[in-house]
Amino acid sequence: MAAAEQLTELELFARQVAGCTKCRLAEGRTQVVFGVGDPHADLMFVGEAPGFHEDKQGIPFVGQAGKLLDKLLAGIGLDRGSVYIANVLKCRPPGNRDPVPEEKEACEPYLFRQVELIRPKVIASLGNHATKQLSGKEIGITRVHGQEQRIRLGALDVLLYPLYHPAAALYTPAMLKVLEEDFARLPDLLGRAEVEAPAPTPHLAPVAAEPAVQLGLF
Ligand code: URA
Ligand code: SF4
Repeated sequence: MAAAEQLTELELFARQVAGCTKCRLAEGRTQVVFGVGDPHADLMFVGEAPGFHEDKQGIPFVGQAGKLLDKLLAGIGLDRGSVYIANVLKCRPPGNRDPVPEEKEACEPYLFRQVELIRPKVIASLGNHATKQLSGKEIGITRVHGQEQRIRLGALDVLLYPLYHPAAALYTPAMLKVLEEDFARLPDLLGRAEVEAPAPTPHLAPVAAEPAVQLGLF
């Protein structure tokens, strides 16, 4: 697909989602916070849900956590314009409460479609919610942060790179240090994603068509 068409498609899609009332978060929001950045970014960040300032401005990560994200990006020579930033939930949960399963289910197709249109090479999931949603696994962020894993989203093969959520790191210096260290590996991962064949790693490969017993023939 030509670049211009892809941009249009993402924009059209954003306009479509702007009127969404699929879950009850529609009632309390100021506006849908779709996403921001380069529509062809190699690196995409996925957070949890808009907070107070994001809901008011319609842009993800514009509060304190967002400032830290900007700083971390600058540290590896990137900025908001060279990546794409979105959230699992497109509308702010009242009082910033945790999203409930029905809300995540209702909103998930939007994130997946967004990823499909942007086609990033690496998705950095910020915190527990995004990591679980994208990996489809229940393993917590403290165990998987900094460990890249190949995932398949629809027809797209992408490297998922779980990171601590910047909002959590803001108040915990030890966590911030880990987040900075994990962040520092991003340029390397992006370079690697570029040269790697888009084949899934063995642990995510489909079950072998040949029965295992046939190995005994060799
Ligand atoms: N936290 C998030 O997860 N997303 C935002 O957009 C802002 C804060
Ligand atoms: Fe629609 Fe997602 Fe907003 Fe719910 S959170 S109303 S599914 S855009």
